[in-house]
Amino acid sequence: MSGRSSERDALDPLREEMDSVTLEMARLLSRRSDLARRIGEAKRGMGAPVDDGEREGALRAKVVAACGSDEEAAMASRLLNFLLNESVQVQSAAAPPAATSHTAIFQEAKRLEEAGHDIVHMEVGEPDSAPSPSAAAALSAACEAGHTRYGTALGIAELRDAAAEAESAHGTPLTRENVIVTMGARFAIYLAIESLLSPGDELVVIEPAWPAYAQCAMRAGVKVARVRTTLESAWEPEISEIESAITPNTKMIAINYPNNPTGKVLPARRQAEIMGLAARRSLYVLSDEIYAPYSFTEWHSALESGHDKTIVTQSLSKSHAMTGFRVGYAIAPKAETLRMARLQSLCLTCVPTPVQHAALAALRSEPPGAARETLERLRTLPPRAAGMGLEFAEPDGAMYLFARLPRGLDGGEVALECLKRGLAIAPGAGFGGYGPFVRLSACREAPILARGMDILNSVISGGGP
Ligand code: PMP
Repeated sequence: MSGRSSERDALDPLREEMDSVTLEMARLLSRRSDLARRIGEAKRGMGAPVDDGEREGALRAKVVAACGSDEEAAMASRLLNFLLNESVQVQSAAAPPAATSHTAIFQEAKRLEEAGHDIVHMEVGEPDSAPSPSAAAALSAACEAGHTRYGTALGIAELRDAAAEAESAHGTPLTRENVIVTMGARFAIYLAIESLLSPGDELVVIEPAWPAYAQCAMRAGVKVARVRTTLESAWEPEISEIESAITPNTKMIAINYPNNPTGKVLPARRQAEIMGLAARRSLYVLSDEIYAPYSFTEWHSALESGHDKTIVTQSLSKSHAMTGFRVGYAIAPKAETLRMARLQSLCLTCVPTPVQHAALAALRSEPPGAARETLERLRTLPPRAAGMGLEFAEPDGAMYLFARLPRGLDGGEVALECLKRGLAIAPGAGFGGYGPFVRLSACREAPILARGMDILNSVISGGGP
């Protein structure tokens, strides 16, 4: 009894000290947030970007040097990632939403259309053809057959089998245990990042990139390490640059080929090098392969590498013109599919069962001609763009031409002016700070695209519509 009370005597002051250290940390945190807000305002005044990799690196070196052991350094580095993410969020939140962001253009285009204006849509990537009739028939047949109840978070067995069979064509034998059906590739990406990474971990993103990888990471408290690629290097990432973006906290590399927004397909050798690097460092590769059918050239799935920490996200949105059905899947090792399934179960129980039956019918039938048709339309853009003084690498696939405007014109300002004249396009800034670029989507009939290009030409040449 007296032993217990003397232990308690020793415990109480330690607890009190722990409380006061924690409170001190909370006070410091609020001081830090206030500083982040003020830095954000100053940066906005200067037109400087929120992210500053060099400063972050210098601070990390000081933090690591201040630690007594490797374990402490690893913990401090993770805490630093959390703090850096918070600063970015605070600084970005203080900024007024850019009138020229990708989503702002889309919203404004929709508003103008509702007000009766005729808008040429070259800002979104969405096939304009109908899904195969068998998908629509399967949707109503599923309802009639009573497939209208809750299902498992992993998805219906037949659809998982069909996806496993389709993806096994890339050389790694897969079973339904490697498949989770998701609400589009977007939710598969969210599930992979949120359930496989922890706050303080790092994700390498190769830019320009579809913004959701970085946005999901930030939301999960995961630090984004950006590897910039350039038009001059035909959007090909250097292995040495990916390597130097990797730290002991890095857990995943996100890749997306054919790429949104550049249309790039990586040469097989470069992709194999990335997969080899990930395997050596035991990193996940999140390979978003939703544009796989949209390629002019030879394309390789990341699954061909055999790297056992590969996660592929797929969707029927683009391959089967089923964007509004919201159905896709992820391929992953069994343990990872189960982790993703736990989060999916929490968020939405399961993907709507009738929609899964429609997806199954779509996978079993001939895909509609959306990919062939869109690629044909995409071919019409480069000659026109070149004639207008735009600079670009010829797309290898996907649905887009990512082009630099002439004479230092800003993509956001040009997009706003185009919108006034009836053309919606995506400013490059939304794909990782490529301000002088615009992304032109080729998902409309060729004469409509030609009309869009006329409007763009009139804006960049400074003439009237
Ligand atoms: N990945 C990329 C690269 C995309 O461009 C998109 C949609 N534009 C998605 C994923 C999301 O597709 P889904 O409709 O399957 O959610």
